[in-house]
Amino acid sequence: MNQSIKQHTSLLQSLRAVSLSKSYKYLVPPGVFAAALIFSLLALVNCQTRKIEPVAIAAEDMCSYCRMAISEKRVAAELIDSESQAFKFDDIGCMVNFVKNQKNSAKTVAYFVMDFENREWVKAESAFFVRSNEIRTPMNGGIIAFKDRAKAQAAADKYHGTLVRFDTIIQ
Ligand SMILES: [Zn+2]
Repeated sequence: MNQSIKQHTSLLQSLRAVSLSKSYKYLVPPGVFAAALIFSLLALVNCQTRKIEPVAIAAEDMCSYCRMAISEKRVAAELIDSESQAFKFDDIGCMVNFVKNQKNSAKTVAYFVMDFENREWVKAESAFFVRSNEIRTPMNGGIIAFKDRAKAQAAADKYHGTLVRFDTIIQ
């Protein structure tokens, strides 16, 4: 009984050794290696795009659209292009105009807007925007952004505005 288990085990081991050596050298087509290489390169690129960080606004920064000083940080906006260049705006409306008028030939890879309350960058796609004629912003864009939906809703009620997402703002 013991003998047969031992034989069985050693048979399995030798089969495994054969399959490892042979399949690795002869059975894996070269295309698989190429695919693996392409896949890991794609993963690397993907990883890099995910790591795009917003750039802080410096005192001397001007709006990339209207060329005015960025006086009110709580309504500032920023976009980063595929060449890692940051364009900063004094008004969310200026960023929208900049995009609509195709002022930059490189592809935009990230949009950030300032949280109206906390003055922290928020990815534009995850922010909640309030648009109202009663909101006064430097260039009369009339748009403010919030990270928190409830706070955006409260501002929309206060200014008799509408709560919208970034796809509506940028279209
Ligand atoms: Zn501006």
